[in-house]
Parts: sequence; structure tokens; C-alpha cells
Amino acid sequence: MDYRLPNTVVPSRYAIRLEADLERTTFAGEQTVWVTVREPVTEVLLNAVDLEIHGVAAEANDGLTVEGTAHLDGAAERVRLLFASPLAPGEWRLRLRFTGVLNDRLHGFYRSTYTDAAGHSHVIAATQFESTDARRAFPCWDEPALKAVFSVTLVVPDGYAAVSNTQVVSENPVEGGRRAVTFADTIKMSTYLVAFVVGELEATEPVLVGKTPLRVWCVPGKRHLAGFAEEVGAFSLEFFERYYGLPYPGDKLDLLAIPDFAAGAMENLGAITFRETALLVDATAASHAELERVADVVAHEVAHMWFGDLVTMAWWNGIWLNEAFATFMELLAVDAFRPEWNRWVTFGVSRGAAMAVDGLWATRPIEFEVMAARDCEAMFDLLTYEKGASVLRMLEQHLGAEGFRDGVRLYLDRHRFGNAETTDLWKALGDASGEPIPEVMDRWIFHPGYPVVTAEPDGTGVRLSQRRFTYLEGEGADDGRWRIPVLVRAGVKRGIVEKPIMLADEPLTVTLPASPDWVVVNAGGHGFYRVRYAPALLKKLGAALGRIGPIDRFNVASDAFALVQAGSLPAPDYLEFTARFVNETDRNVWAALSGSFAYLNRVIGAADRPGLEALIRLRLATAADRLGWEPEEDEDELTRQLRGDLLRTLGTLGNDPAVQERARERFARHQESGIPVDPNVLPALIAILAASGGEAEYEEFVGRFKSARTPQEEQRYLFALAGFRPPELVQRTLELTVNGQVRSQDAPFLVRALLVGVHSREPAWEFVKVHWETMARQYPGSAYRRLWEGIAALVNPAWERDVREFFASRGITLGGKTLEQYLEQLRVAVRLQEREAGPLTAYLARPRRAAR
Ligand SMILES: [Zn+2]
Repeated sequence: MDYRLPNTVVPSRYAIRLEADLERTTFAGEQTVWVTVREPVTEVLLNAVDLEIHGVAAEANDGLTVEGTAHLDGAAERVRLLFASPLAPGEWRLRLRFTGVLNDRLHGFYRSTYTDAAGHSHVIAATQFESTDARRAFPCWDEPALKAVFSVTLVVPDGYAAVSNTQVVSENPVEGGRRAVTFADTIKMSTYLVAFVVGELEATEPVLVGKTPLRVWCVPGKRHLAGFAEEVGAFSLEFFERYYGLPYPGDKLDLLAIPDFAAGAMENLGAITFRETALLVDATAASHAELERVADVVAHEVAHMWFGDLVTMAWWNGIWLNEAFATFMELLAVDAFRPEWNRWVTFGVSRGAAMAVDGLWATRPIEFEVMAARDCEAMFDLLTYEKGASVLRMLEQHLGAEGFRDGVRLYLDRHRFGNAETTDLWKALGDASGEPIPEVMDRWIFHPGYPVVTAEPDGTGVRLSQRRFTYLEGEGADDGRWRIPVLVRAGVKRGIVEKPIMLADEPLTVTLPASPDWVVVNAGGHGFYRVRYAPALLKKLGAALGRIGPIDRFNVASDAFALVQAGSLPAPDYLEFTARFVNETDRNVWAALSGSFAYLNRVIGAADRPGLEALIRLRLATAADRLGWEPEEDEDELTRQLRGDLLRTLGTLGNDPAVQERARERFARHQESGIPVDPNVLPALIAILAASGGEAEYEEFVGRFKSARTPQEEQRYLFALAGFRPPELVQRTLELTVNGQVRSQDAPFLVRALLVGVHSREPAWEFVKVHWETMARQYPGSAYRRLWEGIAALVNPAWERDVREFFASRGITLGGKTLEQYLEQLRVAVRLQEREAGPLTAYLARPRRAAR
């Protein structure tokens, strides 16, 4: 079948008038589409699905009108308009009337609900069109390259807000207590960026950023949670206007919090929609991690206004460029917004997550051919966002920040209001910098996987060689080489030396002035590769951790554990090596270490668990004791967050009874006497109380989840429910995932958390096997796919067989290589168990002094 619409008839302008009936949850629309007919046709093909089309006519400039009929093909998501006589080449106006249903699947034109303080339920109508769901709201040429101008009118009940991509130009009363709100013409843009939102929403007073008014919208009663997003939004808007050297392409910018929202946010031009946790936050009561999330998502979406909205990929294979670039720009902007957050160091965690997927045989290239538009749905993953952003950062560091920025400006200027391909960006960056970009970049973009660089002592220098990194052995690990910009940093007698080199086909020896005390490869951490240090070099590094940067320490820990998973470093050796990190002060390094402990906790048997818990307590004791429970006066935000992270790990994974006891006391004092708890510690207390709590705490947390005052508080209590260990409470949480008490945007992630927990995974797996069809029906597609990530935690050969048989016999596919990736991740963990169970048991059985 043809995946693209024919180009015989193309649109240039849509005038759409829509009315949603929020009580009946239906909508009705009429539209005029200005089209150019390029050859005589009696048939016009465009996209529509789940719509009924009632009236069809084509009108020529001379007034000639031809009546038509509509024929929907539901499977192809297309409608064929048939006309009695041919439409001659030239300009025509197509007039269509249609109706549809506001669905509950959080795509197309859909229904979101919320309950007000008085307990009354309210309905909002909102849209989510990317990738291919504009066709659910109005018939259209639903392809990113078929850009057009949109003129929108929304008919809404009096007292209801109506928001679309541009400013309101007129409001006129309509009989029946309604009004017609007409918006200004948009720029020429793609259908997937159109947005309509109708509901009893409130907005903040607009702030002017240059000429652009910026507002935050939310359900009534939450406006006081909008300040932080407004600040980040205004900062980002200004930052990007400067960086891109082009004015903001819209006439206003609205940021809207929608109570039910499948993704994190959506970059509709001028009307960005968010899930509440990504936009609304009480900055005085939020943890660092919660604030960073809002800053990230807001900056990311604002970056898209140019990169994505003004210049758009020509087809869905280019989605990586959109998302990778927005992620890269998000980091740049947030790093400028709060330099003290060290955002590029924290990005190490995301880069590591992308490497965890890209080290699988079931990975894919960042960019690959997309035939049917639907096939790009599985592209919204770590490889697109995090690997993509990593390789762009690597390129930026290679070219220099200014050369890179100039190339981006050239690209945007050349293609504005149009569409572009990856090669167009390479061309612009090459023209601006004078460097051959494809030569360096193509292997990173068009080939799967990434290299591991082996570093070995060679005279006074270090010899570097590369091959593909994979967790499991297989054919082809030695096929092809990357061009790797490598920065080697070494500590020598006279100080520190740095050597930038380009590692390609042949091994290279980097000569150093004197025999170094330590050597870091991938210094600064911008490279998308792992490093395998020869034992002698790793030993030296372990002794020099205090002298290298946090991102370098992060990579030492993260790469070492990846080598454990790949079978080239014994797990006990790794656990022994973690003793080098007891004085660690960076929370990302601790995230890498704690993540590896949690992983091993899923691999070992229950009998070994007390041994691992003792080891975790021992490793964390020094850092946790240094920080205590209370923040110092002028302590920075990252240290406060680290305190919370360490306490959480000690009280949950480390099962530390003293920490659990103290957490209970503090929480009780906080609740009863209002004694304040640092916002970074409070989420940890909640998680610890869950891990060590019973029915009383469970009841309390369910109540607090339902009466939460902020989206963050709601999430803390909801996800804490997955941490309770008594079997009957696990069962209750499982029931919550399908009985409608948890929003469908959150339920899949609750299921995933239950599948991952060592105390809940067994009943969770049994539950999912029974209820997966209900879940598939209730959850939005993108989030439903994510719940299955949890199967990688079912670590033993019997479970693995059961999982494989389950998917094979049900014929479940998750799009792209998603399922294969989850199954391979499970294989990697089971393989580690088969290899290391004995040595780990012996190692963990060694007596360890009680740390606290
Ligand atoms: Zn994005």
C-alpha cells in the first residue's frame, strides 16, 4: 500500500469551526480547506478516522460548485472524497461537515476530567495529535510536510475558556448561551501541531517576554502552582530567541496543564500542553528532582517552537532530529537557567540509560526508514531523545559551541516555515564550521550501537582501541568502527595534561609526558561510548577518585557495572570496587551506584538479600552520616537532594531499621505538629514508610493520594503504594491499576513499578497475565507499551521461559523493537544470574560490620 497521500491535491489553508459538547462528549465541525488541484481529479484522498463526514462540496474560484460524497476507510485512516465531475487544475475550496466523539484514550480530540474541591466532576476537551491523530479531530492531510495555515473558531459555552495556537481575534455570542471564539491565522505549519483546549480553566496574568505574552493555564484552584513554570518558560523563550537568532514564531505562548495527558508534554505551537506534574509545582515544597523535571520539560517544549514547529522533519524518520535537538537545547537552557544544578552532569544518568538500550542486539539506529507513519510511534524512546541528544552534544563539543550554534542558525534560517532532513542539518553545520560532518556523524546516526574503548598502559602513555559494546556475545561485534572524538586527561607530576584525539579504525597510543598517576578517557563525559580500563589503570583511578570530576566518576562507576552485566568484570570485584566511593558527594554518582545495587538485588536470591543490604548500608554510611537529616544553613540544592536520595536508599534497598525508625518518627512529627521536613527529604520518608509499613500506613497514603494538594504530592503517595511489601497490600495496589481509581496516564507506570519491585514482582506478573487486555483497552498506547519494561525484572530462568511463552502465545507486539529489547534485557539479567549467583552468594555471605 502507499504510505503517503498522493500529491495531486495539496492544502494551503484550513478554516475550521468546531464545537465540543462536553456533556454528551461529542463534537461537530465544519471546515473549508483551500487546496491546489494539480491535475484533473474526481477523487480527493486525505486522512480521517473515527469521524462521520456529512457534507462534501468543492467550490472553484469562479463560483462553480461540485457536490461530493465521502467514503471512509477505517483501517487506512483515510477518506476518499468522490465528485460527480472532475475538479480542474487550479485553486479550489473544499467544504466538509463532520462529527466525532471525544474519546477517553488521550489522543485526537479527547476528554479529560477533574473533580473540584466541592466534589463536582468537570470535563475538559483537549487535543493530542502527534504523531498521526489530527485526523481524529478534523479531516486533513495529516503528514508533516503538508504544512498549511490554520484559522480556528471554537464555539464554547459562556464561562468556558477556549485556547488554540494563536491569539483570540474575536468573540461573538451564539444563541443558547454560547460564544464563538476566533483565533488569528497560524504560521504555515504541520497538522500535528494544531491544538484545541476547551474547559473551565484559569490562566495566570500574562507576562511579556519581548513582544510575546506568556501564560500558564490550569484547572481552577491551582494557579498558585504556576509561578515556577512561568519563570522557566519566560527564561527559555528569551534564551532561545538569542541562541537561534530568530524571533519566536508565534504571537503568544500558553502553557496548559491538562489533568489527563499521555505523554509528558506536547509542543503545539503557542499552546503547549503538559501533564500536571510537568508544569504545576509548589516551588517551596518540591524536591530538587521535581523542580528539575518542570524546568526540563518546559525548556524542551519551548525549544521545539523553532526546532520542530518552525522547521519540521519532512517525514517521521526525522523525528529523532526533532526530539534529540529539543533535548539537547533543553539541557543547554536549563544549564543557563540554574548553572548550580550542573545539568550536564545529571545528563550522565540519561546517557547511561540510553546506553543500556543501545548495548542490546535489539537496538536500532537513531534514524531508520519509516514507511507507515504509525511505525514511528516506537521511536519515542531513549535512543531518539537521549542517545540523539548525546551525539549532538558530542558534536557540539567537537565543533565548539559557537560553530555549532552558527550552523543551527543557518539551518533554521534556510528552512523556516518548511521541512528538512538530517542531511540538511549536517550541511548547515558543515557550511558554518568548515568541517566534514557526515564523515564523523553518520555512523552514530545510521548504525546501531556504540563502542567500548579499551585503555591499556603502553610505555608512559595509554593505548586505545575500540569495538562495539554489547551485553551478550554475538556475531558482528567487530564490524565497523566509529569516529570517536576522545579527550584523554591524565594526572602527572606537574599537574594535569589533556589530549584530544580522533580514534578511528586503528588503535592509537596517546603519549603522555611522564608515567601518569591516573588516566581518564572520555574526560568531561561528552562521548557516547564506554571505557574499559585495564586492571592496572582502573586500580589507579579508584585511588584518584577525589581528583577527577563528578561526570568522570559517574562514568567510572557506570561503565564498570556495564562490564559486569556484559560478563567481563566479576560482580564481586565490582562490589568490592564500590568501596572506593564511600566519600562520594555527587548525587549522580550515587544514582549509578544505587542503581547497580538495585539491579543486583533483583538478580540474587532472597537468602542473599540480608548480605546485600548490609553491604549497601556500609557503602552509604559515611556519606549519609556526613549529611545527617537536616540541611545546613546555606546548603546547595544538589546536596539537599543527595541527602534525600541516600536516606531513601538506606531505608528501602538497605532495609536499615534505624533509618526506618527515624523516618517514621519524623513523618509523624511532621504530620501531627507541623514540624517542617526538607522538601528533598519528605519524598524519601514517604518511600521508606511504604517499604517498612503495614495497613495503617497504606490507608493513610491512599487517603493522601486522593486529597493531595499538588501534582507532586499526588505522585509521591501514589507511587509509594507500589513499595508496600505485605502481599495483601500488593494485591490492593494491583487492583487499583484497573479499577478506574488511578488515572490511565499513571496506572501503567504503577504496574511497571510493581513488576520491578522484588517483593511485588511475582504477584504483579500473575496479575498482568490475567488483566493485560483490560490494560490495553484502558491505557493510552504509549504508556501501555512502557508498563512492559517491568518484565526485565523477572530475573530467573523459569520466569524468563514463562514471559517468552506468554508473549509468543498471545501474539502481543509493542511496535518497533520494543518487546525484543525488553526480552533481551531480561536475558542479560538471567545470564548474569547464571554466571554470578554462586560467587555473589559467597561474597555477600562475608561478615560485614554493621555500619550504623
Ligand atoms: Zn519533544
